[in-house]
Amino acid sequence: MQNYYQRLYSKTKEEFQKEVFTNLKNNKRMFIITANPETFTYATKDPLIDKMLVDPKSTLIPDGICIVKTAKMLKYNLKERITGIDLATALLEECNKKHYKLALLGAKEEVLTALISKINSTYPNISIVKYQDGYTNKNDEFFEELVTLKPDVCLVALGIPNQEKLIYKHLNNFNKGVFVGVGGSFDVLSGTKKRAPKLFQKLNLEWLYRLIKEPKRIKRFYNNNIKFMFKVLFMKK
Ligand code: UDP
Repeated sequence: MQNYYQRLYSKTKEEFQKEVFTNLKNNKRMFIITANPETFTYATKDPLIDKMLVDPKSTLIPDGICIVKTAKMLKYNLKERITGIDLATALLEECNKKHYKLALLGAKEEVLTALISKINSTYPNISIVKYQDGYTNKNDEFFEELVTLKPDVCLVALGIPNQEKLIYKHLNNFNKGVFVGVGGSFDVLSGTKKRAPKLFQKLNLEWLYRLIKEPKRIKRFYNNNIKFMFKVLFMKK
């Protein structure tokens, strides 16, 4: 697992956003993986995800607080958490500013519709070149058809690890574009679900808010975070 930690982006959120915007401007392709304990756990079991995490074509950002804390325990010099939702918001702002082309894949149909109308009203300069909800069984077709549309940004919200596997499978067909798996971000950005209040965010307790709101996540949380912490605790750098 140490090799995944080594690949985590270690500078600040602001510096990262700047680098992404520069790549966008220069038409450089990027595949951003928002890393949390689930990502690393899946990678230890699935050779394809393992390959993806160590591939120089991918950029790993520390999305979960558990990743930041465990990285520090292992003496990796990480500046801060960079969340998928903040990145997605920053990308939408930049797309609007620069009149970029956006593609959206994932979430429930009504969530996606709400998100699109929100983008159209808040970010009128963005052109959404392609969109599709995440429950069609036509995800590969989406990517195949996307190639000729050459999006600047493609946000995929199918959950870990399906979103990353899908992007990785099709990545080489694109010469440019920033591709990011953004998990449950469409639910929040569309206004369907609320993000944790600022105080929870500040205290790094977003996970607690999510557990209170969605208690069915407790088992998943225990398996992926508590067990994970212990595993890392007994690991040496
Ligand atoms: N999702 C989807 N298709 C699926 C399964 C999930 O589009 O077959 C969407 C789901 O609607 C949600 C997102 O993927 O918007 C994943 O959300 P979750 O909160 O589980 O992701 P996390 O942020 O925990 O990775």
